[in-house]
Amino acid sequence: MSQIAENLKSVLNKIRTVEKRAFRDENSVKLVAVSKFHPAQSVIEAIHAGQLLFGENRVQEAAAKFDEIRAQGLEPNLHIIGSLQRNKVKEAVRIANCIESVDRIELIEEIEKQAAKINKNIEILFEVHTGEESKAGFTNEEELENVIELCSNNAFPHITPRGFMTMAPFTEDTSLIRKSFSTLRNLRDKFQKIYSSLDLSELSMGMSGDFEIAIEEGATIVRIGTAIFGQRN
Ligand SMILES: *Cc1c(COP(=O)(O)O)cnc(C)c1O
Repeated sequence: MSQIAENLKSVLNKIRTVEKRAFRDENSVKLVAVSKFHPAQSVIEAIHAGQLLFGENRVQEAAAKFDEIRAQGLEPNLHIIGSLQRNKVKEAVRIANCIESVDRIELIEEIEKQAAKINKNIEILFEVHTGEESKAGFTNEEELENVIELCSNNAFPHITPRGFMTMAPFTEDTSLIRKSFSTLRNLRDKFQKIYSSLDLSELSMGMSGDFEIAIEEGATIVRIGTAIFGQRN
């Protein structure tokens, strides 16, 4: 077995173990394998090991890599997880199934515009700022609610919102990490209740260092790079 296949197996085992321990439903947590800074060949190895969902945080890098992979007839799903500039939206919409890092209204408007042009439906997550050290994400709850309300009024017909994403603060203090994740879950529960015509169930939270806490706090998607592909250069 290749190193990547071995790592994948052990990460998936750990996810299933924590699901059980935390009384989560079996297979309720999806794995996004974060392949940023790793070559197409590593992604292909992971696909051959059964992984079909990947995350990339830079659009240009992702486009080159995933065009190459798809040209070989492989059909991985791709989530864009890094902060996105408006002028990269067109390419992001072309290559991704989901944009997890939607953190402002202008971005949603541009995603709708570009998705409409190619008649594609794209999923999004709302990235929320829940920890002190990461700067990305909605910081203003009213602004976030305003956007969700627009979605519930079908203002963006090519966009399907699926839930929320966050990054925990980079700290050894696990209580702060846990608090960041529970903040996102509470926000999801609140908005799901108000905007019940939408399905906002997804909670993308947890990386190599903190995904066990994230699963305990309700993550439905974990984004794991290093533990699968090794250290990035
Ligand atoms: C790089 C990255 C990850 C994965 O981080 P690892 O620590 O390598 O598992 C997850 N989420 C985002 C937004 C990232 O940029």
